[in-house]
Amino acid sequence: MKYTDYIMNVPDFPIEGIQFKDITPLIGDGEAFRSAINDLTEFSKSLNANKVIGPDARGFIIGAPVAYALKASFIPVRKPGKLPREVITYDYELEYGKNTLCMHKDAVSPGDKVVIIDDLLATGGTMEATIKLVEEAGAEVVGLGFMIELVDLRGRDKLKNYPIKVLMQY
Ligand code: AMP
Repeated sequence: MKYTDYIMNVPDFPIEGIQFKDITPLIGDGEAFRSAINDLTEFSKSLNANKVIGPDARGFIIGAPVAYALKASFIPVRKPGKLPREVITYDYELEYGKNTLCMHKDAVSPGDKVVIIDDLLATGGTMEATIKLVEEAGAEVVGLGFMIELVDLRGRDKLKNYPIKVLMQY
């Protein structure tokens, strides 16, 4: 499957200078979506993950079906004010702007093997923040999966200690 055929580049979105990678044609194609989910599921299975985390919001679209296929737990990591119970939080910088992520305090525990799945690796800030939340809660991050990596932004430099699977690179 040539996944790049299903990604549209949108210049200057959401702000000038950003080359936005639109995954909606990929998830809008049944076969391409299923194949991408299967590839990330195989990766997660090889790491014996029992929990899958997806960061708000595109991480939900990809992480939840991976968790379902693995028969594993799915855990949403969300923007502030969305989770109803006690949370742990982490602040970080984005390729464009700033963000805070939150996770329910009891979502993961020591002994859990967690894989984190998102649509795109840019600066690595989102993934680094999500890793901090998992590790603060005492669980182990066993791997990181993405559909897309923007290689020039060197997000991998922040994520050296973890196995990484990406389906396409730009
Ligand atoms: P980062 O934290 O810099 O690795 O950014 C990753 C997050 O921001 C991902 O969850 C993406 O959804 C989003 N993102 C950053 N840059 C882009 C881009 N060029 N195209 C699409 N999404 C992006």
